[in-house]
Amino acid sequence: MSALSLSDSLRQRVRESAGDRCGYCLSSQRYVMSKLEIEHLIPHAQGGSHDESNLWLSCSLCNRYKGSQTTGIDPLNNGRVSLFNPRTQVWSEHFYWSPDGTRILGQTPTGRATVEALHFNNELAVEVRRNWVVAGWHPPAK
Ligand SMILES: [Zn+2]
Repeated sequence: MSALSLSDSLRQRVRESAGDRCGYCLSSQRYVMSKLEIEHLIPHAQGGSHDESNLWLSCSLCNRYKGSQTTGIDPLNNGRVSLFNPRTQVWSEHFYWSPDGTRILGQTPTGRATVEALHFNNELAVEVRRNWVVAGWHPPAK
């Protein structure tokens, strides 16, 4: 069973639960041209289920960078920790925006490891966010 076989009603519930934005970089569907994707928090290849409890919304960039990873390396001490889980964890407890709103900074081991693993601050993302800031669309209020 591939992700493509998830029912429309399940996809819609996940999309609504996620507030129609990427659970990782918080990009809103309103500002990205590609459709946000339903991602498996624990990859199906690693035994993750297709249940709603294992699904969340992700932009294609975060989903691609995350791939099959569930852990990452905290750059502060090189320790291996779990990546951020947007369904069960609170974004603002693990991340915050740089003062200019263009970069996501980690404030916990999980936050820092996720920033690195998912390449949150890749050059293109920072440039796009810079334009969102100018437009008054970013960073999100919460
Ligand atoms: Zn994202």
